[in-house]
Amino acid sequence: MAEAAYDINNIFAKILRGEIPSHRVYEDDTVVAFMDVMPQGPGHTLVVPRAPSRNLLDADPAALGPLFVIVQKIAQAVRQAFGADGVTVLQFNEPASGQTVYHLHVHVIPRFEGVPLKPHTGQMEKPEVLAENAGKIRMALAG
Ligand code: 5GP
Repeated sequence: MAEAAYDINNIFAKILRGEIPSHRVYEDDTVVAFMDVMPQGPGHTLVVPRAPSRNLLDADPAALGPLFVIVQKIAQAVRQAFGADGVTVLQFNEPASGQTVYHLHVHVIPRFEGVPLKPHTGQMEKPEVLAENAGKIRMALAG
């Protein structure tokens, strides 16, 4: 089955280009991480490679190693920042899987014993809460 083409104007491409705002917690030459605006839990962070691909299925394999190095770094930082008991890492490919934004990204979500995830793309979080949570993650990353 043929995949749809990558859309250079998808929302994450615009965030990567700085055309729309985000609460960034980390960036380097290959990867940017920022807060999810509809978090499934406090501290829900998205780790996004700068290289364009719709998702894992069409990604350049060379992009995946650097991406997951940063996924680990963010997972460790959110665990520390929020005193989490665990961390869920999620990644969706194409609509049938639940993907809603078509630029490869990995969800990193702090988890707490007995607390279920909120719905995927549920409710918008207040910008001040996202800013505060981003600050906590940046502090943990600064070590
Ligand atoms: P997907 O369903 O593609 O795996 O996840 C897309 C994620 O992006 C969702 O969790 C959703 O809440 C988040 N999201 C959608 N629009 C925006 C946006 O404009 N900014 C940010 N930071 N996150 C977004």
